[in-house]
Amino acid sequence: MIIGKSRKELEQMRAAGQLAGQVREALRRMVQPGVTTLELDAAAEKMIRDAGALPTFKGYHGFPYSICASVNEQVVHGFPSDYELQEGDILSIDVGATLHGFVGDTATTVPVGWVRLDWLQLIRVAEECLERAIRECWPGRHLGDIGWAVQAHAEAHGYSVVREYVGHGIGRRMHEDPQIPNYGTPGRGTKIKAGYVFAIEPMINVGTHQTKTLKDGWTVVTLDGQPSAHVEHTIAITDEGPEVFTRVERPAEPQPAEVAAHL
Ligand code: MG
Repeated sequence: MIIGKSRKELEQMRAAGQLAGQVREALRRMVQPGVTTLELDAAAEKMIRDAGALPTFKGYHGFPYSICASVNEQVVHGFPSDYELQEGDILSIDVGATLHGFVGDTATTVPVGWVRLDWLQLIRVAEECLERAIRECWPGRHLGDIGWAVQAHAEAHGYSVVREYVGHGIGRRMHEDPQIPNYGTPGRGTKIKAGYVFAIEPMINVGTHQTKTLKDGWTVVTLDGQPSAHVEHTIAITDEGPEVFTRVERPAEPQPAEVAAHL
């Protein structure tokens, strides 16, 4: 059963989503060669608790950390560790925050320093997949429209879409009905209504869509060892279309002229 949210519940979910989005962007700004993913985890937990919220992931089915940190061929659910990020890595950061009983869930994939162009394109396409999925989040559309939006764009670029892990309804619990696959058939699946809130999270691979889980019982990696990108927003469906609760202003990147001035 999908639980539609009331206006008041949507307001509280907006606050939880905004907090998760702010933490995500703060972590993005910390990413650079030499930083460990445990440092990012500690910073996230502090920011979340300082805001009067709880790190949703910590203790979730025994998950030991506040964020998931998944490097390169790791798809999702990577453990933060004392691994020092290296120039050329790509890092997926997944953050959950529970504020006033409601969950915000969001992820981004960040390049570490200078990253090869084809890996940057993988990230860009994953972000485009998510934006295309969000454009389908109108009352009257179907879950198959969301899945197809992701799948069609990823496959048009020669990438594959992970099948075993999917997006989800979200509210007082992180994982509510329905499941939101990143593949599907237009016009098929559950019809979307105003008041639904979804976490949509494309996981896009360069090579095979197949994955395996490491011995830690959590870390999901691509079966062929090729890189994967993961991005996620928490989105409410309203009569006026999608509202992305985890979207926050991202500070402008330095422009080429400014970069040149430092050389
Ligand atoms: Mg999620």
